[in-house]
Amino acid sequence: MTQHDDNGAAAAAPATADAAGIGLSGLILDEPLLWERGRYGRTAIDLPPSGVPSRPLTGPRAGDGPDWPDLSELEVVRHFTRLSTWNFGVDTGMYPLGSCTMKYNPKVNETVAAMAGFTGAHPLLPDEACQGALEIMYETERLLAAVSGLEAASLQPAAGAHGELCGMLMIAAYHRHHNTGKTVVLIPDTAHGTNPATAAMCGLTEVKVPVGPDGRMAPDTVRSLIDDSVAAIMVTNPNTLGIFESHLPEISRMIHNAGGLVYADGANLNAIMGRVDMAKMGVDVLHFNLHKSMSTPHGGGGPGSGPVAVAESLVPYLPGPRVIREDGRYRLVDDFPLSIGRLHPFHGQFGIYLRAYAYLLSVGNRLRDVSGLAVLNANYLRARLREAFDLPYDSDCMHEVVFTDAKQRGHKVTTLDIAKRLIDLGYHPPTIYFPLVVNGALMIEPTETECKEELDGFAEAMLAIAREAETDPDSLHRAPVRSKVGRLDETLAARKPKLTGD
Ligand SMILES: *Cc1c(COP(=O)(O)O)cnc(C)c1O
Repeated sequence: MTQHDDNGAAAAAPATADAAGIGLSGLILDEPLLWERGRYGRTAIDLPPSGVPSRPLTGPRAGDGPDWPDLSELEVVRHFTRLSTWNFGVDTGMYPLGSCTMKYNPKVNETVAAMAGFTGAHPLLPDEACQGALEIMYETERLLAAVSGLEAASLQPAAGAHGELCGMLMIAAYHRHHNTGKTVVLIPDTAHGTNPATAAMCGLTEVKVPVGPDGRMAPDTVRSLIDDSVAAIMVTNPNTLGIFESHLPEISRMIHNAGGLVYADGANLNAIMGRVDMAKMGVDVLHFNLHKSMSTPHGGGGPGSGPVAVAESLVPYLPGPRVIREDGRYRLVDDFPLSIGRLHPFHGQFGIYLRAYAYLLSVGNRLRDVSGLAVLNANYLRARLREAFDLPYDSDCMHEVVFTDAKQRGHKVTTLDIAKRLIDLGYHPPTIYFPLVVNGALMIEPTETECKEELDGFAEAMLAIAREAETDPDSLHRAPVRSKVGRLDETLAARKPKLTGD
């Protein structure tokens, strides 16, 4: 709390930051803990005296009770309202967090998700009493299958990593059922950490595929790794370098010829929705990150939804129960003998795929414009920043672009310094130090929902930081100076976490 006062926000502003950052001037209200604010005997509501005589508690509930602070209603309202203004979200400003697709989520989809008929429906209602909810599940699965080009979908997985688990469990079940004895999964070294973790959880063994100098998997490299033990390859396309795996059709053919299957991590779908047919690229199972590409506000750990779509060969292994349509009526059916079973006590994150359903219906066949604009915006930033920042893979990018701090390192300025100064300039930092194969990575994903002025503002901020790295590198090491909390000692925070309020 006091850190802000000590910094004297405006006085310590960086020399190159001419433009005032978002919400950084005027009324910046400090906020103590409720315990520091409370005064003994203060209350929010005066209850009338009870007509029943009071008696002291006895037994296990006896004692003084929790040490709650005493506060008025107004103090509580101000406390939480002020804290809410300290938050940064995509509704506050640009949030170019690569690999996460922090795009704007249309509010109308929130209205749909809040409709009483949906929020009040109990997951144990009999099928006849929730035909509308079942119809939405059925139709959303149909739409997601259509977007992917695949045969069928399941809404059960509750996050991207859960979708991976679902997909890899299906692949493992497929190989068990066909008695192939295959247990190896090829995973490129650019993959998100959840990919190898998922393979391991399914009892499969990871073999890394090093990407080529152009940031793509080369067919020859994959060929050299294929043998009888290969159960699958896990591919993210476009990959986490923001580069399209253009050899995927050929790689898929090689994997299929060896009796393996192709898993696609669809977290980067925002680059290719409405444009790329996953089935034609040879994909057998794909997970969606609805909280990234299809209208769910996420961050801070949730909520998410990671449906999977599958090719015909994997349909029998889909998790149950599945929604079946017969004579215009919908039923939940659970008796699929090869199914991997349930992944969720009920039917997945209903409120999240409901938003995706509303999003897909409202966007319709302009989905290809969504991905087109996402790619255009990323390439615009790539072009504006390529002189000032090092581009480890200098080719057209998809929805995100990866720079490094190589040009700034000579001035002892690192990716972390650049990210922290962006906070002073009113922008959420991009993803940093990921993907791991890129030293000092800065992974920027602007998304299609930012306009040109916003992209230019971000580019100007990055260019100002590049100039500051040359003229005043030491000041960058102190960033951020305009935020509530300054530079944190991340090592100390990890080594000696302080987990109590005192
Ligand atoms: C976000 C992401 C995941 C994991 O998704 P969660 O919903 O966070 O579990 C997997 N792969 C890639 C490439 C991602 O960007």
